Amino acid sequence: MTETSHGAGCVFCKIVAGDIPAHKVYEDDETIAFLDAYPVSSGHTLVVPKKPVENIFDTDETTLDAVMRTVRKVAPAVRDAVGARGVHINSNHGATAGQIVPHLHFHIVPRHERSEFSFWPQHEIDTSDAEAIAEKVRMHLK
Ligand SMILES: [Zn+2]
Repeated sequence: MTETSHGAGCVFCKIVAGDIPAHKVYEDDETIAFLDAYPVSSGHTLVVPKKPVENIFDTDETTLDAVMRTVRKVAPAVRDAVGARGVHINSNHGATAGQIVPHLHFHIVPRHERSEFSFWPQHEIDTSDAEAIAEKVRMHLK
């Protein structure tokens, strides 16, 4: 698969094609999983579809289903391989959300201790506008 909807420079398409090396841990007809070259923690693994989709906004359900089956299969293996107690399953969609490679991917990040690091700050929900936001989301689902 050399032609992509997001440019010939896509690093994940190159990994899928075998044009650049990766520490591959799993592969099937629709997906591959490999170690992240810039891990948050040891064992940090990426799961990507072979189909060159960009993110959740342009991914068909069949492709997403295949990716999530692979996430489900690989996550416990990653956890056990590094003796972790849990994993984050994280995915960024769009540059403003921190998506760096424009090819759909899910991170599996092993966690040993809760205090190791934090992905984002949280605060209690603002009840003054929460229901209005929920209603807007429901409207966009129609
Ligand atoms: Zn790609």
